[in-house]
Amino acid sequence: MTDPLPIAEAAPAGRHPAPGLFLEKAPLERYVPPRKPSLVGLSRDALADALGSVRVPPTQRRMRVQQLWHWLYVRGAQSFDAMTSVSKELRALLDAHFTLARPDVVAEQTSVDGTRKWLLRLPGEHAGEAPHEVECVYIPEPDRGTLCLSSQVGCTLNCSFCHTGTQRLVRNLTAGEIVGQIMVARDRLADWAGVKDKSSSNVRLVSNIVMMGMGEPLYNFEAVRDALLVAADGEGIAISKRRITLSTSGVVPNIARAGAEIGCMLAVSLHAVRDELRNDLVPLNRKYPIAELLDACRDYPGLSNARRITFEYVMLKGINDSAADARALVKLLKGIPAKINLIPFNPWPGTGYACSDWEQIEKFSEIIFNAGYASPVRTPRGRDILAACGQLKSATEKLSARERLALRAMAMTD
Ligand code: SAH
Ligand code: SF4
Repeated sequence: MTDPLPIAEAAPAGRHPAPGLFLEKAPLERYVPPRKPSLVGLSRDALADALGSVRVPPTQRRMRVQQLWHWLYVRGAQSFDAMTSVSKELRALLDAHFTLARPDVVAEQTSVDGTRKWLLRLPGEHAGEAPHEVECVYIPEPDRGTLCLSSQVGCTLNCSFCHTGTQRLVRNLTAGEIVGQIMVARDRLADWAGVKDKSSSNVRLVSNIVMMGMGEPLYNFEAVRDALLVAADGEGIAISKRRITLSTSGVVPNIARAGAEIGCMLAVSLHAVRDELRNDLVPLNRKYPIAELLDACRDYPGLSNARRITFEYVMLKGINDSAADARALVKLLKGIPAKINLIPFNPWPGTGYACSDWEQIEKFSEIIFNAGYASPVRTPRGRDILAACGQLKSATEKLSARERLALRAMAMTD
């Protein structure tokens, strides 16, 4: 455990930090693990180590890991007792030292369109401190079910249009807490093999994952990597890497790492076509400007027309939404196998930005469409519960009628 790190104040809403001011807050790395650790989210190697720590003989560990993996990630076991193929002695031993705990679900909301949102409680840094909360959203569609996961409580970056960036407190989620979000969703949706009438079906309700909730996943690299590798393991949760998308604001050095060490699909929060403007919207751009970011994108392993990078572009009225911006965007992305997601801005209390008018979004999207990019505006989902990727927790706050109108564009999928 380390001493508390000083936390800089977040940039005032809608204003831009002056050049030379901090770009990032320092993350809190203090985390008090529960007395009995959960096995959820451990890699196979870490599981083997956990078994070793309770003196399971080395010759048995591989087989035991295999069993545990199946019970945890195929069957969704919530107690050691349920693991009927594991000996009674070992179940008792495991139960004495570990749990299968997932994050606590504090609230659950279901939209008329089936979108579901869970508010999850995570332990704080020290006794007596209020627990942290993050959200996780499930968006069902006819051909897939997408789960939007958080990687951090808050975010160290200060994108001027993002409410998460204004939160002062930042803590990295552990790999277990990230995988735990998937476990919670599958528990709640009864989406495990052998549950209810699904035993004979290989089709899972949660088929896709997007790292687009709270936080910057590439600033919590190891935990996000470990969690996504657990999610992609073909003998467990088994969500293919092509169905896992990580969204980054542009942490350039970790983009290549994400390609090499995770191998998932990439989404980049571009939002502007000129450095001057992007410096304001995404202050990290001062560290990693657009040209460097796009170079990293061009080098992303496995990039092809079948495996494109998604560029996210939040539509901010009078800021980045002109026809000239749209044309510049098309030019900028030339040669990169790309998809473009136009995201209607989701306003929050105190923001200085507004969502572009629909007419303007349509004009912008037409230019993109004519350049060969299909269906760029995300479809609104879960509007009645204000569920949305990228704007999770903050969206539950009380909003004016005008803000609610703009919010109708939220909880978007491709
Ligand atoms: N930190 C990562 C992932 C989380 S944010 C990133 O920035 O990419 C997921 C997406 O939601 C990003 O594209 C982000 O720019 C966008 N977003 C953030 N605040 C938003 C808002 N108020 N309205 C619309 N999109 C927003
Ligand atoms: Fe962090 Fe992403 Fe929000 Fe920027 S947009 S502050 S990187 S969560």
